[in-house]
Amino acid sequence: MRRMISTLAVFLLVFSLCLPLSVQASSKVKVRYKGVTKSYSKKKTYIFINGERKDLSTTPVFLKSGAYMGPVDKIFKSSPLKVKIKQSGKKIALTYKNRKLTVKDNSKTAILNGVTEKNALGATPMKGAVYTNTKGSRWVVPLKSVCTRLGISYKISDGIIYLDEVTESQTNSVTNPTPVPVSTEQTINTQAAPPLAASQVVLVIDAGHGGIDSGAAGKLYREKNLNLAIVLAAKQYFDRDSRFKVIYTRTDDSYPSLDDRCKIANNNNADLFICVHINSYLPSSTGTLTLYNNSRNEATKKNGITSRDLALAMQASAVSATGFPDKGLMNRTGLRVLNKTNMPACLIEYGFISNINEERLMYSHTSYYGRKLYEAIEEYMKLKGRIK
Ligand SMILES: [Zn+2]
Repeated sequence: MRRMISTLAVFLLVFSLCLPLSVQASSKVKVRYKGVTKSYSKKKTYIFINGERKDLSTTPVFLKSGAYMGPVDKIFKSSPLKVKIKQSGKKIALTYKNRKLTVKDNSKTAILNGVTEKNALGATPMKGAVYTNTKGSRWVVPLKSVCTRLGISYKISDGIIYLDEVTESQTNSVTNPTPVPVSTEQTINTQAAPPLAASQVVLVIDAGHGGIDSGAAGKLYREKNLNLAIVLAAKQYFDRDSRFKVIYTRTDDSYPSLDDRCKIANNNNADLFICVHINSYLPSSTGTLTLYNNSRNEATKKNGITSRDLALAMQASAVSATGFPDKGLMNRTGLRVLNKTNMPACLIEYGFISNINEERLMYSHTSYYGRKLYEAIEEYMKLKGRIK
């Protein structure tokens, strides 16, 4: 009995000692930014980087506008990820392997390898943010938006954030961007062009791979079949719309060569050339991206539309169709279909067949993606005054 009492006494003593501490340790993160101190919730005092626990107790991750924000110096500078950091004025550039992402203070714009994406980030980066319990100011950025663009895997599991490096051989996939800087400050031109004389828009739509070439393979499906299903779904809508003359490089499981696909587009003097593909990489890879060839942007410009313009429009629509993360545009100079075609051209990668979740979702949504593809082209041609 006496032993029980003394155990209880020790317990109460420990408990009472701990209590003031636990009351002090707030679940909020106080950050001063532009002279205003705010309390943010969902504090995370550590994350995992390449499997190692990274202590962030003095500079925690916190939630702002639905995005987890983290300190650039603590997470990217002195970490195994070895991200190069360059600040200048209100911008900060983060370089990881062959991707360079520039973000601006208090702006949602992201510039990835020279390609500007407006309203891209989950929350606005904060330059000169001060954790009120520490000295010094630092950059704090939305982690998911930044990591996914840099090609760093970002995952949350049981409320814990995991950042993981992707190895060299893995980055040699189709998602590997060519590190060619584009002029840095181009943005989406959403202004409608003056209406031109209405005439039929000639499109060539290319379902990637086919026949002996399966493209990427997932656990359940093959890329060539998903590509074709999306294109055939779009065809149902184009077939009923006389404003468009659409030529398909294939409507069955055949394999036109890459040169043949280009010839079909060039010989028909197509206004636009759009390739439909599915990506593949890691089981954890996720997101929608669109490839275009920036080096031929001017050479292939037609009716005031560049490949980049087309890619931006198709990317926005594909992302809204899939609901997958927006991986933006990627400049690819080495793809035949983007190199030998004489008109604005782009290649949509809807999602990752290597990711079982995206694979299943894509399989069950090919009709929807097809309809959205039709709607996107229709809307874009209206915006450009090519149709009414
Ligand atoms: Zn493909």
